Amino acid sequence: MKQPRRGERNVAYTVPKLKEFSPTALDKAVEKLLSALEQESSELGNGDERKAFRDRWLARKDGILTQINELWLKPAPKDAKREVGQRVNKLKGEVEAKVEAALVQQPGINSEFAIDISLPGIRRPIGAEHPIIRTQNEIISVFKNLGYSVAEGPAIETDYYNFEALNFPPNHPARDTQDTIFIAGQESKPQRDRLLLRTHTSPVQIRSMEKMKPPLRVVCPGKVHRNDAPDATHSPIFHQVEGLAVDTNITFCDLKGTLDHAMKALFGSSVKTRFYPSFFPFTEPSADVQISCIFCDGTGTRDGAPCRNCKASGWIELLGCGMVDPNVYGFVGYDPAKLSGFAFGMGVERIAILKYGVDDIQLFFNGDVRFLEQFG
Ligand SMILES: [Zn+2]
Repeated sequence: MKQPRRGERNVAYTVPKLKEFSPTALDKAVEKLLSALEQESSELGNGDERKAFRDRWLARKDGILTQINELWLKPAPKDAKREVGQRVNKLKGEVEAKVEAALVQQPGINSEFAIDISLPGIRRPIGAEHPIIRTQNEIISVFKNLGYSVAEGPAIETDYYNFEALNFPPNHPARDTQDTIFIAGQESKPQRDRLLLRTHTSPVQIRSMEKMKPPLRVVCPGKVHRNDAPDATHSPIFHQVEGLAVDTNITFCDLKGTLDHAMKALFGSSVKTRFYPSFFPFTEPSADVQISCIFCDGTGTRDGAPCRNCKASGWIELLGCGMVDPNVYGFVGYDPAKLSGFAFGMGVERIAILKYGVDDIQLFFNGDVRFLEQFG
């Protein structure tokens, strides 16, 4: 028996020269060819083999079908030509169909020709909401239920919107409390037009007041940037949800009631809030809000040991707020004599860390699927 050449499968079929061209002889030759094709089809392997198989049978230059033309049809005597021609044509169609069918049906690996519709499809796992987006949406929905609308603004802001209109005059020391990332090459512009990455979403409050007449209730969610070196509690990127309510006769009581309700909605109805004097340029008076520690129920001790989450104080500082400074109304054409309002702002990461017991803020940003999967 003829040995297969190196690199070939154990296939012996070569197109024979025909000694005679009678129908019986043709039948025999065709039968041999088709059974060889059958055999080869059943042994098909991977992509390279499939390509070789296809070329071997169908290649225009010296594929088996071309050889049949050369070795069977061309040498046929004149009186048999018509008969042989018809047989060869029929055979060609048959071989082409069988080759293509073999390539399609065989479930090969890495086959560039084969598509096996019985194989399972490529699974595209359904993603989950990122814990930051989920928390942000949760905060937003609390305020939406109180009648707030949502406003968004640009992440790259001018000095005017990020600082000046929020009552941070140029060179005011309060600017130093927000380590700002400035856009390079802005020196030729007046200071108020220079661009920076917003350090808070408060500029959206200014933009909202410019666009809308009071009464106004908006929350402004979004990404903000500070020039902080990344560690377990700091990140140069984080998210805020700020809120603003302006109307006639809005008092500090409204502010306290609103935030107390929001904290209970986010952390459970047993959570208490307390307000501490603080300072922000755009609110007066200003306050920091603490919630009773959700890990030790405000007792300061947990499992007989001092609670680490609140440093045994029973309280966790969570957000800043205050009554809108009348100066701010001056920048947006509101009448400070008639209007009053409050503003507040909270860090989304801070709230997500508490809600989900995350111990490193970097986990939110380094895209590790093992971390993110837990929120699916
Ligand atoms: Zn605690």
